[in-house]
Amino acid sequence: MKSMSNPVRVRYAPSPTGEPHLGNIRSALFNWLYARASGGQFIVRIEDTDRARLVEGAQDSILDALRWLGLDWDEGPEVEGAYGPYVQSERQALGIYQTHTDWLIANDHAYECYCTPERLAAMRQAQQAASKSPGYDRHCRDLAEAARVDFRKQNPTSVVRFKMPLEGEIVINDVVRGEVKFESSLLDDFVILKSDAFPTYHLANVVDDHLMEITHVMRAEEWLPSAPRHKMLYEAFGFEMPELVHLPIILGPDRSKLSKRHGATSTIYYRDEGYLASAMLNFLALLGWSLDDSSEIFSREELLKHFTLERIHASPAVFDKDKLEWYNGVYIRNMDPKALAEELVSYLEASVTGLPTSVARPIDRDYLATIVPLERERLKRLSEAPAMFEFFFIDQPEYDHALLVQKGMDADTTRNAVERALATAETASDWSAAALEATYRALAEDMGLKTGQLFGTIRTAVSGRTATPPLFDMMSVLGHDRVLSRLKAALA
Ligand code: GLU
Repeated sequence: MKSMSNPVRVRYAPSPTGEPHLGNIRSALFNWLYARASGGQFIVRIEDTDRARLVEGAQDSILDALRWLGLDWDEGPEVEGAYGPYVQSERQALGIYQTHTDWLIANDHAYECYCTPERLAAMRQAQQAASKSPGYDRHCRDLAEAARVDFRKQNPTSVVRFKMPLEGEIVINDVVRGEVKFESSLLDDFVILKSDAFPTYHLANVVDDHLMEITHVMRAEEWLPSAPRHKMLYEAFGFEMPELVHLPIILGPDRSKLSKRHGATSTIYYRDEGYLASAMLNFLALLGWSLDDSSEIFSREELLKHFTLERIHASPAVFDKDKLEWYNGVYIRNMDPKALAEELVSYLEASVTGLPTSVARPIDRDYLATIVPLERERLKRLSEAPAMFEFFFIDQPEYDHALLVQKGMDADTTRNAVERALATAETASDWSAAALEATYRALAEDMGLKTGQLFGTIRTAVSGRTATPPLFDMMSVLGHDRVLSRLKAALA
């Protein structure tokens, strides 16, 4: 471990190639937790050197995901900092990677490779046919200078490759996994600078981690195979290597690597569906970290208090969407109703997916706050709110009037029940749930109806539904006027 005088500097280094994958944001979270828990710096660096894979808007949605989860960064896009720029294409424009490449060539650690795509394709085919392990055959590694000049004329758009050791073992040290060994003979001379003059991930990543004084590289296990290459780069440059912390792979419920086949993997999707940031944070933190065998609920503060690298797992984490729903339910139920109402407003007011346009905007916040305690038990995602809450807001719910008739009743007894319920409502002076309940229990008795019959009829009349929150709480929240007009509509 680095000495205490060396403050922790960790980075999240996404490539803007699409919507931020949950696994990717998990990496961001672990880096952020470590930085914040250790009083260090959390840096965001955009790795956009693979120009062919860039996706318009991806950088914004990655940063939006961080903002949504409250993962603030000390240095990076928008905030900048002393080690910028923090976007690799901007660093490339400054010549940073070219200079480092030139240095490697001058010091015999790298070489220009003039092989054409055709030659490389033929090489691959031959390797396959001979069942040899794939990889560059080092054709250009030891060319004589005269041959080099010749090749350069034929193929001026050369790439630069790094000279990997031809034999032996490369041992890397990972905080989570301990020593991991790689056979040099299986690692080829990889490209560090492409023909478009952009660096590859390997070169840019190592150069930037060094220049940005990164102390710990925390990233998903998928990147572990890159580690021996990076180690050789660090050695060639004579740079000190950061600590490596590879986070466990995330699997779907079928134990294959989490992918779109398992449903949505974009963090933004979950935000838009109405998962709370607090629930998502808790859920992601437990994908590869735990405090003990049983604790499941961690607020942001608790995570910061308990998070250590030692408690990161090496074994795979399994993504379980039901678990995420469960977390969301827990956090929804524990939220202050007013705060939850605030979260719900945008879902309810949304133009296409929100409440019907007949419901005037802005919606009544105070009224909403009284509905929330009734419905939040059943609410799993905030996006369910418009459908669930609609009947509280619209003028008159539509429903099949046959639903008014309860078991053991007929059209006449039902009509009579609604009439009496209306008359009772008209004269009721106390509109609290308790008073309403007492009044209507008495009415059921007076009419010789079971409470289930009378209450069922009233439930349908005032809500248009057969399943609702507790009837009298609901009536109390709906209010005198709405209940009267709905009972009248049921009679008509
Ligand atoms: N750009 C890589 C990614 O997209 C970064 C991997 C790393 O953290 O080294 O995840």
